Amino acid sequence: LIERALVDEPPATLADGGCIRAGFAEELDTLLSASRDGKQWVAELERKERERSGIANLRVGYNKVFGYYLEVTRANERRVPENYIRKQTLVNAERYVTPEIKELEEQILSAEERQIALEQRFFRELTSRIAAESAGLIDLAEAVGALDALASFAEVAARNRYVRPKMGEAGAPLILREGRHPVVEQASRDAFVPNDAELDGETAQIVLLTGPNMGGKSTYLRQVALIVLMAQAGSFVPADEAVIGVCDRIFTRVGASDDLARGESTFMVEMIETANILHHASTRSLIVLDEIGRGTSTYDGLAIARAVVEHLHNAPALGCRTLFATHYHELIDLARVLPRVRNYNVAVDDDGERVLFLHKIVPGGADRSYGIHVARLAGVPKAVTRRAEELLAELEKGRAARASGRNGRAARQLRELLQPSLFGEPDGLSHDLAAMDLLAMTPMEALNCLFELQRKAQALTAPRSGRSE
Ligand code: ADP
Repeated sequence: LIERALVDEPPATLADGGCIRAGFAEELDTLLSASRDGKQWVAELERKERERSGIANLRVGYNKVFGYYLEVTRANERRVPENYIRKQTLVNAERYVTPEIKELEEQILSAEERQIALEQRFFRELTSRIAAESAGLIDLAEAVGALDALASFAEVAARNRYVRPKMGEAGAPLILREGRHPVVEQASRDAFVPNDAELDGETAQIVLLTGPNMGGKSTYLRQVALIVLMAQAGSFVPADEAVIGVCDRIFTRVGASDDLARGESTFMVEMIETANILHHASTRSLIVLDEIGRGTSTYDGLAIARAVVEHLHNAPALGCRTLFATHYHELIDLARVLPRVRNYNVAVDDDGERVLFLHKIVPGGADRSYGIHVARLAGVPKAVTRRAEELLAELEKGRAARASGRNGRAARQLRELLQPSLFGEPDGLSHDLAAMDLLAMTPMEALNCLFELQRKAQALTAPRSGRSE
């Protein structure tokens, strides 16, 4: 019905007609030919009037105010037939109407009007017929849509060597062998480097990924999330093997949607997204965080990033599988105090002169960013990169000196504080210290223990050294 009723490319509105196909209704065809043949009729009338009046340049015209008229130049005015009625005077011509031309006009214009009204009626009838069948049509469209999606999944899987994922319980481990990014794999000129992934709520809950810029951190994070998404949509996935504990939601913070136009700074957007994740993630979610705290000062950013990781690790309602890429190398120390944090980095082949990003994710933390190297690759002027290298060397020297000073002081204080008791009372403080199960403690519990130990230490040292700190 739709095919018979509508033209191939109907106009955007019904106001001007032209949506119903010729041959659909006889009544409409007659009207259509009346408005189409109108031109013919006008030409015919013009020819007849020229013959009757003997005025060779007489012509029929049309305007919105007067409708159809006969126009005669001033020179021919005296040959104008009796029944012409003057309508309008121009500089060089007079315009007339006759009963015949008015009748013609009536026929042409009313045909058009009736045609449009009729088309609108047919269109309304058509839409109500369609609406009456809507349930069936929607079912059909859904079935065709599902078939289309499944056929596309099958074709893509066959073409690109995808495998069928094994689906596990909600929140169960996520294991990928030789996973690939489905889009980057197609787009990159060089061979794509596949990578494994292992995430679970028990031992490897948070993967902390460090590594140089341009190393492939973002690609890796997105590829893991995409593989989960594809699997849950019913597709095969780009990997050699995939075991996927179903996720209730995938949360991402990837810096692709900063909305400066709406008046929110990059950092604000980053924090809004982080807040959303921390409020709404559950133990069954997958979280992908590509840099947190980047848009603010180093200490601010580092502090926020660390607090977020601690919260994801320790908050009872969270504990969800998380991939966290960061350029803050300081965070790799977290793996020592948070048992479910695993450090990974992107391998770099650096022989001192030449730097090659291998795009391979390997265990362990990174200690260099290669930012200046990337700046050089990008074509930043040599004078600038050389100066940056000097500055970096100075900054690193300064940091090292500060760190050893700080550590030295702290260690000395600790030695001073604990030595007499540790050696003098083998069953006292040292025993308590040895018995502490640090990995099973919350930071608050650890602080309480430390406070307790300090109290004991003060009690032991105060009479001997005379200090009360
Ligand atoms: P980062 O987030 O570490 O700065 P990206 O993920 O943006 O790095 O990767 C930088 C570029 O490296 C990408 O544009 C991509 O072309 C390439 N790349 C990343 N991962 C791979 C991979 N596994 N195999 C091949 N090329 C990769």
